[in-house]
Amino acid sequence: MAKYAIIKSFYASTRWIKFRAMIIAERGMKCEKCLKLITTDKDAELDHIIELTPDNVHDVSISLNPDNVRLLHHDCHDARHNRFGNVKGKQVYIVYGCPGSGKTTYVNRNRERTDIIVCMDNLFNAITGLPLHDKPDQLLSNVRAIHTALLDQVKTRYGKWSTAWVVGGYADKYKREKLAEELGAELIYCECSKEEAMARIEMDDRRRNMIAEYRKYVDEWFGRYTC
Ligand SMILES: [Zn+2]
Ligand SMILES: [Zn+2]
Repeated sequence: MAKYAIIKSFYASTRWIKFRAMIIAERGMKCEKCLKLITTDKDAELDHIIELTPDNVHDVSISLNPDNVRLLHHDCHDARHNRFGNVKGKQVYIVYGCPGSGKTTYVNRNRERTDIIVCMDNLFNAITGLPLHDKPDQLLSNVRAIHTALLDQVKTRYGKWSTAWVVGGYADKYKREKLAEELGAELIYCECSKEEAMARIEMDDRRRNMIAEYRKYVDEWFGRYTC
C-alpha cells in the first residue's frame, strides 16, 4: 500500500477510479501475470509498472497511462514485489502458446530490467541482425546451440538475473512438462484461438507480409498441441 498521503489521495480520486474501471472493461477481469480469471473486484490490483512516487504521481504519462499499468491478482502483485527482496530467489517461467498468441506481449508487460528472455526468435535476430521473425534455416543449428547454452544457465541459475522467461511454442505436453521439470519452471499458457492468433499476426507490421507462412505455423502448432 502506498505510504505517501499524496499517492493515497491519487488512488482515491475519481480520475483514477474511472481510469481503473476503463482498463478493466477493456482488458477483462484477467490477471496479466498468471493469466487466470480475477473473480472479485476487490482482488483486482491495477499495478503501475513504473511505480508511483510523490514526484511522478501527477505526471499522467505515468499515473494514468494504460501502457504503464497491469491488472493483477493481489497475490500475484505481492509476488512481483517480493522479488526485489530476493526472498524467493530466481524465478523461471515457460511462456508457451501458438504463434500470434501474445507471448512476447505478455513477457514485455511482465519483465523487469534484470530479467533474461530465452527465445529462438530473439536469438536469430541477435546473431543475424535481420528483422525479428526472419529466420534463415541454414542458421538453425547455431541458434539452437546458443539456446541450449542459455537454457543451461537457467537450469543452473548461473549469474545474477531475477527472472528467466523461456518463450516458445512448446505444443507437446510431454516435452513441455519435462522441460519445466528440468528448469524448475512454472508454465504459463497464452491461450488463444486460431482466429485470434491470425488476427493478431495480421495486425503486426513485422509479420504482415508473411501471412501465408504464419497461417501454416499456426495450423501446425494446433496440430501438435496436447494439453
Ligand atoms: Zn494472478
Ligand atoms: Zn506494484
